[in-house]
Amino acid sequence: MYDVIITGGGPAGLTAALYCGRAGLSTLVLEGGAFGGQMTLSSEIENYPAFPEGVSGEELSALMRTQAERFGAELKREKAKTIDLAAKTVLTRKGEYAAKNIILAMGAAPRPLDVPGESEYRGAGVSYCAVCDGGFFKNKTVAVIGGGDTAVHDCEYLSRICEKVYLIHRRDRLRGGEGAMRRVKLPNVIPLWNTKVAEFTGENGVLTGLRLESGETVTVSAAFVAVGTIPNTALLEGQLELENGCVPTNERMETSIPGVYAVGDLRVKELRQIVTAAADGAVAASAITGV
Ligand code: NAP
Repeated sequence: MYDVIITGGGPAGLTAALYCGRAGLSTLVLEGGAFGGQMTLSSEIENYPAFPEGVSGEELSALMRTQAERFGAELKREKAKTIDLAAKTVLTRKGEYAAKNIILAMGAAPRPLDVPGESEYRGAGVSYCAVCDGGFFKNKTVAVIGGGDTAVHDCEYLSRICEKVYLIHRRDRLRGGEGAMRRVKLPNVIPLWNTKVAEFTGENGVLTGLRLESGETVTVSAAFVAVGTIPNTALLEGQLELENGCVPTNERMETSIPGVYAVGDLRVKELRQIVTAAADGAVAASAITGV
């Protein structure tokens, strides 16, 4: 039996692992995807302290992973299939693990736009990760859908490799205000404000365009959907009360179940950033270790 099992190896989980390991607790981190989580999808992170020139998501992920391992945390690339919060056990394809405490750190996944054609052309022009897939559309015309920081990042990134980038947003301004508006003033970025996508259209199984709610069509080779995220809390349903799919906690990251903590993007919180995810991880670990 471990002292702590952390389900999820993003910045929240890896920081919790660093603090738990450093406090001498036997700590297991289970991650089904890439260690680093959503961070690994960012080509450049400009607002994580101590990196004045910015840092790539992959590099920051590797650094956090190395630091957690240095203090003895055991990291396994295994996806949790079930999490029993009352028994404090986690089942993966390889076996069942038990612990005295569980830190839930599964983060969030990209939110689909939920319009016709989206699932049909997913992976055939519809993408949720510009950094992962942008390279396939060099010198092509593409679209980014959304108005938050991810959409801004995606536009900046794609403007460097694509011929033309439509930024399609349902309102007339970006979430990030004037600063964000300035960042997308690039010669090959064409904003389409107050515009909604009604359908992803294509030919022979490949995306070729978008039909807008206005009835107009836009020809694109790819569309990058950046309309936020949804918390990965499906495994918790029926075990914990959720608010809009997120786990409520107190300031110590404690959930309503003793010995169960929640950290990072799956938690009810105001600001979802790498630095706040890391802070959550530290707070949960200190609630467990009592320091
Ligand atoms: P977000 O801030 O939640 O923004 C989602 C955007 O999608 C909003 O502009 C929203 O429109 C739009 N949207 C939502 N549902 C839609 C729908 N059904 N149809 C059309 N548009 C829809 O998500 P995010 O940009 O992924 O950012 C998530 C968090 O990560 C934020 O806290 C952000 O600051 C952070 N982040 C930080 C960085 C960085 O490097 N600093 C990079 C990426 C993300 P409305 O504006 O009209 O609501």
